[in-house]
Amino acid sequence: MRTKKVPVTTYVFGPSDGNHVKYYCEEGSEIVPNVIYMGKRGIFTTSADVKIAYLTGLSRRELGKDIPMCTFEPSDCSAVRDACYRGQTEYRGVDVLITTLWPSGIQQDEVQKVDVAEERLSNLIAWLSIHLKPRYHFVPSIDKFYERQPYRNQSTHQDYRECATRFIALSSVGNKAKEKWIYACSLQPITKMRMTDLLQGTTDETPCPYDPDLLKQHQPGKVVKISGNGQFFFNMDTQDDDHGKRKRRSGDNPDKKRKENPDSCWFCLSSPTVEKHLVICVGSHCYLALPKGPLTPYHVLILPIAHHQSVTKAPDEVNKEIKQFKEVLKKFYSSMGMLGVFFERNFKSSHMQIQCVPVPKACETQLLEVFQDEAGINRIELEVLPPFTEIAQVSLPGAPYFHAELPSDQIYAKTRQHFPLQFGRDVLSSPPILNCEDKADWRQCLLSREEEDSLVAMFRQKFKPFDFTADVDSDSD
Ligand SMILES: [Zn+2]
Repeated sequence: MRTKKVPVTTYVFGPSDGNHVKYYCEEGSEIVPNVIYMGKRGIFTTSADVKIAYLTGLSRRELGKDIPMCTFEPSDCSAVRDACYRGQTEYRGVDVLITTLWPSGIQQDEVQKVDVAEERLSNLIAWLSIHLKPRYHFVPSIDKFYERQPYRNQSTHQDYRECATRFIALSSVGNKAKEKWIYACSLQPITKMRMTDLLQGTTDETPCPYDPDLLKQHQPGKVVKISGNGQFFFNMDTQDDDHGKRKRRSGDNPDKKRKENPDSCWFCLSSPTVEKHLVICVGSHCYLALPKGPLTPYHVLILPIAHHQSVTKAPDEVNKEIKQFKEVLKKFYSSMGMLGVFFERNFKSSHMQIQCVPVPKACETQLLEVFQDEAGINRIELEVLPPFTEIAQVSLPGAPYFHAELPSDQIYAKTRQHFPLQFGRDVLSSPPILNCEDKADWRQCLLSREEEDSLVAMFRQKFKPFDFTADVDSDSD
């Protein structure tokens, strides 16, 4: 079979038809080069800072059945809302919302009646939309292109003006009726807009088409529709929501449950809370990302894509790729006249992080000694492991530890209650090594978004010749 190369990086969201599931890959990875599967929900910020929230697929509750990968839960709606609201004192909206289903209420346009099948409408999406206040809301349309007059978002405060939403339904790609299926818009990100511009009205705008009570409902799962006239009541029957589902699976062990629901994890690539702008490159099982508060430029993390707690608990293919990343990072650092130090703290962490820090070559002879000194001060028993020892050979799965791979030694310590969480950073930031003690605590050296973006861009650029995850004949990002 001949394969065509996709010229423009294309993002694919979740399926809504069980027959299509087989074409999908692991969330966050490429289906084919340049076509990335983003998962069914999340937030994605483009390099131009345009924020796109998405929740695709069908609603299990409204559909009345579960189609694996194709259906979402009320909790998915709140997760997307929470991720958008996170860290914002005054939420103004999101640039783009993409959903498969149409929000109930949107079809009741006085001016331009639109025909949409009842099963394409969702109360949960109406809840999400009224909470998110997207400037653009895109949905797929089976046949006709439809653009509604903008509506003014509802506010919870009286006399408080919110931004307007343009709701657009695009027809399918290359449809026979030649209905519009592509939409181009030049968009200044909401974060960079002046408030007066954001709130400016248009002459054709309409009031918000959704029940204003939805805005008062903190969780969407407690609401069901009782009739076609837009009335809602509180659903107290928890059997029907996520909790009911969880109850049925109560035989699972708690650890497994956490693996299956990585929504709250900052490092699971599929999680809506992952900061995608920090991701440098994505392999088959692991990815490289810029840490928050890096010790030095080119300080990166190797992280498993899925939720694994530590090297000692991760499957072989994950550990194999970690080694591959370490090998290329060593070569990369070496090309800049540096040496790589790698360390993992499997203690009070739920998602494995391998820290990779380049240090000057001149430090090589002192590294072990400085680690030992710092361990001594903290009364940590540090062991030097024999060459080629695997950490899994010395540590029981699940047992907490600190492990570091220095250019010429491997060290290991069992951690205990008062193990200093910043131990690896304490050592490396000390004067004999990087001499940046102010950076020992990552919270003290957080970078601005612009600085993070430029470090990621710089890393990607220079790392290109070493990056085994990249398409070999690609010459652009
Ligand atoms: Zn995780």
